[in-house]
Amino acid sequence: MEGVIAANLAAVRERIAAASRIADRAPESVTLVAVSKTHPAASVRQALIAGHRVFGENRVQEAQGKYPALREEFPRLVVHLIGPLQTNKVRDAVALFDVIESVDRPRLAQALAREMEHSGRRLPCLIEVNTGEEPQKAGIMPAEADGFIRECRERLELPIIGLMCVPPLDEEPAPHFALLREIARRNGLDILSMGMSADFEKAIRLGATHVRVGTAIFGARGTAG
Ligand SMILES: *Cc1c(COP(=O)(O)O)cnc(C)c1O
Repeated sequence: MEGVIAANLAAVRERIAAASRIADRAPESVTLVAVSKTHPAASVRQALIAGHRVFGENRVQEAQGKYPALREEFPRLVVHLIGPLQTNKVRDAVALFDVIESVDRPRLAQALAREMEHSGRRLPCLIEVNTGEEPQKAGIMPAEADGFIRECRERLELPIIGLMCVPPLDEEPAPHFALLREIARRNGLDILSMGMSADFEKAIRLGATHVRVGTAIFGARGTAG
């Protein structure tokens, strides 16, 4: 398995570089977040041995089971939370993660602000926007994004660095990436987390600074992912 993950990482990095060149961007302007959800710590370790350092997980409990031990061995490891966060898990999340990409509602923003004040750990945060306005999906609605961003920054003083989105599965993602970029632009935000295994090259062309790639690196997930 080890050779496979290293080879997949190299192939994805090469595709990121190629997409960056086409977009007239430096390849270093795109951070690859390797999404390790549902995959065992041994797979993450292979990626670490191959030199990769930035990972994404969508569940607090699963990340708690994998990352503290890996961090002992690889102190420069960086883990992003990319999935929905319940307010009762905020304390654990702030203690464990380095970046929270999925700030999606006022109550969560308030809980994060309180916990960061309490713990003294100020994590860079991204606001998740529900660009497809899907009722079952996390994220602030596009029409409410400007107000929510302002509240997070000004009233709650959260370290908001950018925006994240997960476009609807069955739609062309480009308009969603463009919408996210536009909301970020008018709010003076530089970081755009968008693009997954199926569409990260398109996202890079539309300005992604972070692409979240799971399957193309670690292989297919079971149904749980
Ligand atoms: C699982 C997941 C990804 C990675 O998806 P792949 O299609 O496996 O690359 C990216 N972002 C989020 C929010 C995810 O939950």
